[in-house]
This record gives sequence, structure tokens and C-alpha cells, in this order.
Amino acid sequence: MTTFVQIVVNVPAVSGIFDYSIPEALAGKIGVGHLVIVPFGKQTAQGVVFRFIDQPSVPDVKEAFELVDPAPVLTQAQIALAEAMAESTLSPLASIVSLFLPAGLSQQVDTLYEIREPRSVIRKSETVATSKNSTTQKLRTEDILLNLLRMRGGSLRGRQIDAHFSKVDWRRTAQFLVRKGVLSSQSVLPPSRVRPKFTKTAQLAVPPDVAESSIGDLGKTNATQARREKALRFLMRVKDAVNVSWVYAESGGNLADLQELEERELIILRETEIWRDPLGKIETGEPETGTLHLTSEQNVAWREIENGFREIAEGRSIRPFLLDGVTGSGKTELYIRAAQEAIRRGKRVIILVPEIALTPQTVRRFLSRFPGQVGLVHSKLSDGERYDTWRRARAGLLKVIIGARSALFAPLPNLGLIVADECHDSSYYQSEPPFYHAVNASQTYARLAGAVCILGSATPSVSQRYQAEAQKMKRLELPRRIAEAGLPPVHIIDMRDELKAGQRGIFSRLLLNELESTLKRAEQVIMFLNRRGTATYIFCRDCGHVLRCPNCDMPLTFHVEDKERLLCHQCGYERGKPKTCPACGSKQIREYGLGSEKVEAEVNALFPKVRTLRWDWDTTRQKDSHEMILTHFAAHRADVLVGTQMLAKGLDLPLVTLVGIALADVGLYLPDPFAGERVFQVLTQVAGRAGRSERGGQVVLQTFDPANQIIQSAARHDVNGFYQYELEQRKRLGYPPFARLVRLEYRHYEAAKAEQEARALALKLGKLMSTENWKLITMIGPVPCFFAKVGGYYRWQIVLRGSDPKELLRDLKLDGWRIEVEPVSLL
Ligand code: ADP
Ligand code: ZN
Ligand code: ZN
Repeated sequence: MTTFVQIVVNVPAVSGIFDYSIPEALAGKIGVGHLVIVPFGKQTAQGVVFRFIDQPSVPDVKEAFELVDPAPVLTQAQIALAEAMAESTLSPLASIVSLFLPAGLSQQVDTLYEIREPRSVIRKSETVATSKNSTTQKLRTEDILLNLLRMRGGSLRGRQIDAHFSKVDWRRTAQFLVRKGVLSSQSVLPPSRVRPKFTKTAQLAVPPDVAESSIGDLGKTNATQARREKALRFLMRVKDAVNVSWVYAESGGNLADLQELEERELIILRETEIWRDPLGKIETGEPETGTLHLTSEQNVAWREIENGFREIAEGRSIRPFLLDGVTGSGKTELYIRAAQEAIRRGKRVIILVPEIALTPQTVRRFLSRFPGQVGLVHSKLSDGERYDTWRRARAGLLKVIIGARSALFAPLPNLGLIVADECHDSSYYQSEPPFYHAVNASQTYARLAGAVCILGSATPSVSQRYQAEAQKMKRLELPRRIAEAGLPPVHIIDMRDELKAGQRGIFSRLLLNELESTLKRAEQVIMFLNRRGTATYIFCRDCGHVLRCPNCDMPLTFHVEDKERLLCHQCGYERGKPKTCPACGSKQIREYGLGSEKVEAEVNALFPKVRTLRWDWDTTRQKDSHEMILTHFAAHRADVLVGTQMLAKGLDLPLVTLVGIALADVGLYLPDPFAGERVFQVLTQVAGRAGRSERGGQVVLQTFDPANQIIQSAARHDVNGFYQYELEQRKRLGYPPFARLVRLEYRHYEAAKAEQEARALALKLGKLMSTENWKLITMIGPVPCFFAKVGGYYRWQIVLRGSDPKELLRDLKLDGWRIEVEPVSLL
């Protein structure tokens, strides 16, 4: 009897699941989760077996060709998660599945282009490069493409050609050339990029005294004898198998020497598969021995978590925990305890952190508590490192996986715990297709896998907090810091008063004074700048008035692309920049802009002897630069650290007793319903950096809008107050959690095309929305995005709002549109 399966085929842009039969030869070898090669149309492709079926849904079902890997690449729980994610994000199942496969393994089909008549004359380009004319543009593309192919021996794969064109739709030209018979095209599977890495090792094969007795006679010449003796003595000393290159280095010997020792049966040479372990490079601190005595608050939270493990063991399902606790309240300690509990129960653990490079202290603590059992997953791993970590996880060799959002997809058998630390952080959202939120996915995954889920933060997002209030999560509170210190006082400085007093620089008088005295005490300072939304809104420096849209009350943003204008990104309202403030008549109305370079320069000018260090996107392009900057600062090799968002993450720097916030308002007036929340989170987190030791500390927060609710709450570390206020705003304006959003974005390198496409779709959606089914959905747009041009592409967007607006789109074909269900930003 023939067996039939459903396979998710790994071809970009293919959304479905397809039926195949299993050939006789593979019967019994293929199970759910296996990676196979299958015919697909005229192509060959990889795919993952999702389930067995009794009857195929099509008559002429094809046979799977080949099994790629004898072990499954996805677990049952992962398959269930992939399906749930595809359903909830509207992403093609294949693109979600590719998140689970390491880069090297997930080969994707490519197209091989080949010149059919190698000697055909290539037209010389007589056109000017800058010509906008589309025919000449096409000719140029044709020439470049054909020349490229000729230079590279007549054929290239699509992805190789991609590297030579940016922003040019060369594929259309290639298809045209295929139709004219100049080129041929066929689909191919590129060669797999990653192989397990093998290394030669040597190990002593006899007891040391036996080796000792044969040491006198190892070679004919003195030099040979000396080399081999050294090698043997080294191996007698280390006992374990070691990499041969190490033996060479110790002895001055070579492979021939070792082979001779092997001939004499003194040592064994092996080819061993080695794991490329990035942790090899990170040194861990002293292992922390013994367990801390939990505080009474931690204890209350811990009882709930412990009970969660028990309930799951008894076959019940539980809600995720929202561990809501200020920085330094002992959350990480609870994560560690939960991980120990999961491991004790024979299960595996996933710990998600916003970004490994920015949270080295958290990572270290796990490394020292779980030595040899932790695998690290992050964006800077090489394909090989990633592949090995993936295989070790699958083989059950790793008990704990720590990493940024993609660590969620490590193939752990028997998952017992998922933790998402700093669960409010926007880096958990993948803002490139396939779009997904790793925290939402964690909740789903934990439910499907029967695992405990803990989301931790000092500033949970409004939606997360709301979920807890609606009993979808269980909230656990740690309201106080472990250390005596408490949270640092925050001084709000009204920068309008500074201007009036003639203080025109970046720093207020108080901040200058505190800077000086802190440096005198040989303590450290953090100067924080909010990078997002610099120089984008217009406000009055005298009264703080911010210009808003008369229709939507959204702050207007300043654009200088062709002419100076103010624009509403909600409704498209546009006006010129006023000469005076509409509220008070002052001429001091302008946009705001300030970079970290400028702040650093100012500190240097004021305090020439002070050692400054800058931490922003410019200074961290290199691999490991985060680590370097942090280590430098932590070792007190600098006095002032000037930086952006990165400073907000989980740093623990005891010498920092002053945090200066250059301008707290930046980012507040962006045309985005989530802007206020982001500013509150970052201000609260940064303020929490000061005074983490008994030295105490303080924060100086500078603003032009001191009465602002968000700034007030952040200054008081008042998370509850902020939550109530923001929830009220969201309710009033009809934003999440009171409605769901879907964001549709179209990009094109011609502005007119982007606009045209957006208007056409809006028209179509508008018609649909007038029907009975979808009446309650509203549409915002079409409008140009706030970041109207990115990477050479013009961006337009449409936002749908309703109780579940994605259902309107489920069966529509929207080629070229980027669709984000429940986006975290509308910029
Ligand atoms: P968070 O993750 O909330 O920022 P941590 O778990 O890092 O807090 O705790 C802050 C500091 O307090 C750390 O140095 C930690 O080792 C210490 N700590 C945590 N729990 C306890 C405890 N019960 N007793 C003593 N020290 C603790
Ligand atoms: Zn004014
Ligand atoms: Zn408007």
C-alpha cells in the first residue's frame, strides 16, 4: 500500500502544503518532521513532511525523491507552532518553516541562467547612465547582465546575479531574454553551504607507565627522538583527546611523527567531528555556588511558578506568567531557578534576551550556573556555528538555549520552559518578512509544547499588561530592588527656563554641576540620547507647544525633501512651517536635532581631561564592539559613556551614579500610536541604570515639556500611572489593545508607482469594507510612511483597524505587499 504525506515545500512565495507519495525505498524511513527532496512543477525543491494522510487530494500525486537528513528537522511541537504562526501572521507556511532550519540546511531553489549562444554579438551600450528613459534603462540592464554572464563563464545562479544589481529588476530583463532565446533558464538547488567540521585528534592509547617505558627509542636521529618524545609526554600529561595542531605546537612535530607513534600503538589518531562552539571564546566568571535565599517577594512569585511546573506535569495547561518587576528586583534569579526546575524534570529551556551583545551580564550568569549545557544563538554566528548549535540542540546535548528571537526556533526535544526577558523590547519583533513577534510566538509555543512560559520586564508593554489584567496571563510582581539603594531620584529640568536664563548649550545648569561633582568623586556618568525621531517634529522653545494635525491630533512631522513642509502621516494633511508659535507668538519655533557625536564633543569641550566613550550605531558596526565598549566602561577606562537606546538594556554598572537624559521628549511626538510607550520604556530603563550600588545615584532629565504625563510617570518610576494614562489614550483613539491593526506597506523605487499601487489597493479594500461582513473595519491611509524613503525605496502604507482585520486579507492575493499583523510601529 502506498503511503501519502503532506509536505511544506521550501520555495519562496509558495504558501501551501502539498501532497506526495513515499516511494517503496523510503518507506519506514520517512516520518513527520523529515527533510526531503521532492519534484515541484518543473523544479526540484526541499520540503518538510508535516503529516501522513490516507488519501491525496489530487489524482496525479508525485513521489518524494530523497531523504536529506536521517533525523527529523522539526519536532511535533515545532510543526504545530509553525502552523499556528502562519495562520496568525498571514505568512506563507514555507517562509515560517525556514525560520526553524539553519541557514546551511535550508537550501532554496534558485534559477540558473545560461547564455545559449556564447558568441552572439552583445550590443554596445550607447546610452547615458543617468537616462531615466525606460527603454534605454532596459538596454543597459540587458548589456550588464549579458556581460556579467560572459565574464563568469556563461552561466550564473539568480542569487549570484542579485549581488551585482541593486534596485534594478534584472529578472524581468532576464525573462525577456529567455523568451527571445538568448538565455536559457532552469531551476537548480544550490550546493549545501555548511558541512560538519572534522578535526584530527590524538590521544594516549596506553597507560602512562607503558608509554614511559618506550620513550627511550622513538626515532633514529636526535631531533626526531626529541620531537616524538615531547609529543608523547604532552599526550601523557593531558590524557584526553586533543587537536593535533596543539600537539604540533607543543612538540614541533608533524603528522608523520604522530603516525609513527600510532604505528607503535602508543597513541590513537581519530577524525572527530567538532562542534563550532561560539562560547569557546567567551570566558565565564566563577561559577556561582549555592543558591541564594529568595526574598519574600521572590518567594511568592516562585511558589506560583513552581506550581505551574507541577500542574503541567499533571497534564493541565497553564497561563503564561508576566513577571513584572523593576530592574534589580531579582527577576533573573527566578529565571535561573525556573531553568533548574525544568532541567530537574528532565526538560529543556529556552531563554530569550533582546540582543546577546547588549546583555552579556545575563548571559554570563546562565553560563556559570549551567556550565557546559548552554548553547548561544545570535545574529553574529557564522553559518557553521549556527548549524552546529542547531544539531547539538537537536541531539539533546544542550539543556539551555540562550539567544535573541531566533533562539526560539532551536529544535529542543522535550521543552519545559520558555523565558522572554525584557519582553517589552521591540527587537523581539521581526520587522522583515516573515513578520512575527517572538514573545507572542513564545506564548503559543509554550501552550503547544506544554511548557512554562515566563515573560519578564520592568516595563511590560501596554498590551502585555492588559493581557494579564484580562486573565490571559498570570501577573507576578516584584516591586522592589534587592539592594537597599531603591530607585534613584529623577530631577526634571525645564529647558525653556534654561533658555530664558541664557543657557543655550545642550546641558542645563544642574546637569553641568552634577557632571562636575560626579567626575570629581571618580564616579561614572551615562549620557543618554533618544535616537529615534531626531529632528522630526516642530515645537516652540518658549512654551513647548507641539504642532499637531487639526484632523487627527497626531503631531505633524517636518520634511525637507524638496521643500520645507509639515505633514500628517495619518490623514495626509499638509501645511508650511509657521514663522511664529500659534500658541504664544514666539519666534523660537523649530525642529529639534541632536546627535551623540555632538554631545560627546560638548562633554570634551567642557571637561578636556575626561575620558569619553561613545556607544551608538556608528561605533558598533564591528563584530564584538558592544562587548569591547562595555568592558572598557565597566573597567573604568572611561568616565562618561554617551549613547543611544543600547544603554537602556540590562546593564549593571555600580560606579554609575549619574544618568543625564539630554532631551527626554525626543520620540514622543512621532505619528505612531506606540511612540509614547516606547519613550516611557526607554526613559524608565535608562533611569534605572543609575544608583545600582550603595553609592546611590540620580538622574537628570531635560525636557521642553515637563508637564507631559509620560515624562512625569517615567521620572517617578510610576509604571502603573503610565499604564492607566496610556490605556486611556488608546481607548480614546481606538488603538490596541482595544482594536487590532494590520499594516500593509508597498515599496517602489519610483515614488509614483508606490503611490499608485497604494491608492489602487485602498480603493479595492474600501469596496470590500463597505460590505456587511467587514463593516466594522476602518482604514487609515493610504499615506506615505513616516520614514518615506528607505534604502532607495519609496514607502506607502495602509493600516486596517478592527477586532480582527487580518481576516479581510486572508484570501486576497497581494503581490509585492508587506503585510504586518499586529505591527509594533506604524512608522
Ligand atoms: P533583575 O533581573 O530583576 O534585574 P537580578 O536577578 O539581576 O534582577 O537581581 C539583582 C541583583 O540582586 C543581582 O546581583 C542578583 O544576584 C541579586 N539577587 C537576586 N536575588 C537575590 C536574593 N534573593 N538574595 C540576594 N541577592 C539577590
Ligand atoms: Zn509658543
Ligand atoms: Zn491628520
